[in-house]
Amino acid sequence: MVKISVSNQKGGVGKTTIAFHIGNMFASDGSRVLLVDIDPQGNLTSCFTDTLSDENNIKLLFEGINPEPLKVNQNMFLVGSDITLSKYEADAKLANFFRLANFLKTQEFDIVIIDTPPSLGLFTSNAMITSDYVIIPLDLSRFALSGLADLMNSIEKVKDATGRDIKILGIVLSMVNERSLYYREIYQTLEKNYKDLLFNTVIPESVKLREALGSGRTIMNVLPEHKVSVAYRRLYGEIMERLR
Ligand code: ATP
Ligand code: MG
Repeated sequence: MVKISVSNQKGGVGKTTIAFHIGNMFASDGSRVLLVDIDPQGNLTSCFTDTLSDENNIKLLFEGINPEPLKVNQNMFLVGSDITLSKYEADAKLANFFRLANFLKTQEFDIVIIDTPPSLGLFTSNAMITSDYVIIPLDLSRFALSGLADLMNSIEKVKDATGRDIKILGIVLSMVNERSLYYREIYQTLEKNYKDLLFNTVIPESVKLREALGSGRTIMNVLPEHKVSVAYRRLYGEIMERLR
């Protein structure tokens, strides 16, 4: 079972969109996939349902109960989340950091994809502690790079504290407008400092993506030949390559 977190403490950089699309691609490829939404915003969950039952809610973990993964399609299951998860956020007792790790020991899937909130708090720690790999999406804003070192530091801290080998699977520019003022600057900085980590594929910016997600479908599903669909398939290829 390979566990991959999609993480960046910066908000709105495309974590949920990447998690949704990657999860779907693994599932269509025949892997048994568990999606875990550990963000109280519940955005990944909203791609599948507006009425999450308590028994499928990740918050149960913080009450000492294992949630039941909800079957969302043929090969894909979801442990979802909603705003009620947020009440556990400040309860940072030691045991609470290992809730997800302990739960996943009871599960049998090929791939687990974990969507994390825009913070480095308890929920992201839960995800890091149990992950084999982290995918880091970045946008092209002026501050895109400023949090990257912090994120990598906290991954190092989790590695030191747990003795687990957590690898950064890659950094992906997840909503690229090539005319953006910062595109060249950011791409060059990344190439210089993180050459081995940077995915060659960049995901173009497109409103079509937002529309697809709004209807709970992937862009590949709605517009298979769209440039974003092509990019996602290439990204998936790179991910498979790195997992090998
Ligand atoms: P949060 O930190 O709040 O959890 P996030 O990092 O999960 O946010 P998303 O929710 O995936 O980010 O994306 C933020 C917004 O950008 C969403 O409205 C999403 O539909 C949109 N978006 C994501 N990728 C793209 C893209 N390539 N082109 C255009 N819009 C995109
Ligand atoms: Mg999100």
